[in-house]
Amino acid sequence: MTDRRTQLADNLARVEERISAACAAAGREREEVTLIVVTKTYPASDVRLLSELGVRHVAENRDQDAAPKAAECSDLPLTWHFVGQLQTNKVRSVVNYAGLVHSVDRSRLVTALSAAAVRAGRELDCLIQVALDAESGARGERGGVAPDGVLDLADEIAAAEGLRPVGLMTVAPLTGPFADRPRAAFGRLMEIATDLRATHPAANMVSAGMSADLEDAVAAGATHVRVGSAVLGVRPRLG
Ligand SMILES: *Cc1c(COP(=O)(O)O)cnc(C)c1O
Repeated sequence: MTDRRTQLADNLARVEERISAACAAAGREREEVTLIVVTKTYPASDVRLLSELGVRHVAENRDQDAAPKAAECSDLPLTWHFVGQLQTNKVRSVVNYAGLVHSVDRSRLVTALSAAAVRAGRELDCLIQVALDAESGARGERGGVAPDGVLDLADEIAAAEGLRPVGLMTVAPLTGPFADRPRAAFGRLMEIATDLRATHPAANMVSAGMSADLEDAVAAGATHVRVGSAVLGVRPRLG
């Protein structure tokens, strides 16, 4: 049996090849795309191995799992990204370890994050999660604000103490006009990102693409891909 370190190194090398190939195909520099490894459901020991293998960005989607894991790995040179649906009663914990939250999707969350960031004396980078399948003015089933709510939310983040709007995040929708069309979905996200930069020029991060569709995201122009199972293996339970 191959040991875990070798397994992770092999998987990372394959993902790295995929990102490099996608960048080359799109005429982009490899440096334009940052790999975030989504470590949800996997133990702190894997995070430690990934750090030794050169990973610098990791992501989690549940505070209950992420908080102890981040504490166990606090000696490592890692940036933690929070990518899951976030309840306001969890934000105090999340701001203690996360440098970026990718799932900001409502005013109440902006208010809570701002208060927690101020209290912790930290600056928090916020990405607005866009639900490309949500109706106007609504939120998506898996979180995210409808495209027409993005600019207002960005203004709220920019005005909130302790928070900075840094870009957009999406998950390719399973329903609606973009179902099974990740390339088109990510293209639409890029249009929204262009609109956003007109009023918030520093909000230039585009977080899109996972194990199954990272090539589509890189082709569209994503700056950050969030890859879980292709690096760590198929998750043992829903996460
Ligand atoms: C789990 C998760 C990922 C990674 O998904 P994989 O298919 O395992 O690569 C990316 N983004 C979010 C928001 C996730 O919850």
